[in-house]
Amino acid sequence: MTATRILVTGGAGFIGSHHVRTLLGPNGPPDVSVTVLDDLTYAGNPANLDDVRHTDRFAFVQGDICDPDLADALLAEHDQVVHFAAESHVDRSISGAAAFVRTNVQGTQTLLDAALRHRPKRFVHVSSDEVYGSIRHGSWPETDPLRPNSPYSASKAASDLIALAYHRTHGLDVRVTRCSNTYGSHQFPEKLVPLFITRLLEGRPVPLYGDGHNVRDWIHVDDHVRGIELVRTLGRPGEVYNVGAGNELSNRELTGLLLTACGADWDMVRFIEDRKGHDRRYSVDFTKIRTELGFMTAKDMSSGLAETVDWYRTHRSWWEPLLRRSEKGRELPMRVLS
Ligand code: NAD
Repeated sequence: MTATRILVTGGAGFIGSHHVRTLLGPNGPPDVSVTVLDDLTYAGNPANLDDVRHTDRFAFVQGDICDPDLADALLAEHDQVVHFAAESHVDRSISGAAAFVRTNVQGTQTLLDAALRHRPKRFVHVSSDEVYGSIRHGSWPETDPLRPNSPYSASKAASDLIALAYHRTHGLDVRVTRCSNTYGSHQFPEKLVPLFITRLLEGRPVPLYGDGHNVRDWIHVDDHVRGIELVRTLGRPGEVYNVGAGNELSNRELTGLLLTACGADWDMVRFIEDRKGHDRRYSVDFTKIRTELGFMTAKDMSSGLAETVDWYRTHRSWWEPLLRRSEKGRELPMRVLS
């Protein structure tokens, strides 16, 4: 059987590396080979791929998705693309949006142009629930208009719409996933879950934005990857699939769970000035992927969080140098309110 050659962009990052380990792991499809294209920005970590490095079905290319020649050469040699590579942290997009527009918008368009020349069988674009904006009540179906608020979500919305445009205009087999907030192992310690866990494990206080009542639907990374795999293998061209877990928690509630899991209490929490333009609530309606593709989450929040805390507890050598480097010169730059 000829292997399906899959190009995974951003495969050295958090979710991308879980996807690669799933594809090449013992329960992955037997007939795939994987090339990771990743520029190893601050968020990309080659160690995330150590488990698969030995297999002859794996290759790694360090490079920029904005490089048209590299994109062209790689698309010529692959049957499918799963596109994770992005600048992914909202706070960083507030202090500087240029890298977000370049990588997320121009990088996606560069890959799609190369795809146009080589016509891969599938192009899965990994988007985000943040593209919908903020919702007070109810949940967004895939048909809702995109009303992104942060520079990050605006750049993701632009790339999501460009990807769909290449399907409608050029007939490329593009499929889009819009998943909710994802947690799990191997996540760079700057977003809420890994930042709070690593700080609490070091006995340091954690910064909670505003009143802490912002709500997100939290999904374990294995479930996010399962959703992407269903879309890659069984989804329909030109379709968007929301991926969610129905685990809506305010940041306060999530903080409470993390404090308990790390054996700490509320004395360790510092309420800080809110993030600019902080979206109040995200909630995706993921009926479509459930009914059409049979998606179900497998990890409940309490065991998923316990496993995640355990991973950070036992992998200090993975995150301690990253934390030191990311904090250099920007130790809690926020104004503490209490
Ligand atoms: P991440 O920041 O951990 O990883 C991003 C990866 O992309 C890194 O390995 C980085 O080196 C690479 N990269 C960045 N710029 C690049 C460039 N110009 N060329 C090549 N590689 C480049 O991100 P993540 O949290 O794993 O998110 C992956 C994707 O999933 C993103 O597209 C993100 O928008 C989306 N997403 C994330 C979440 C979440 O909660 N983390 C939720 C929904 C969707």
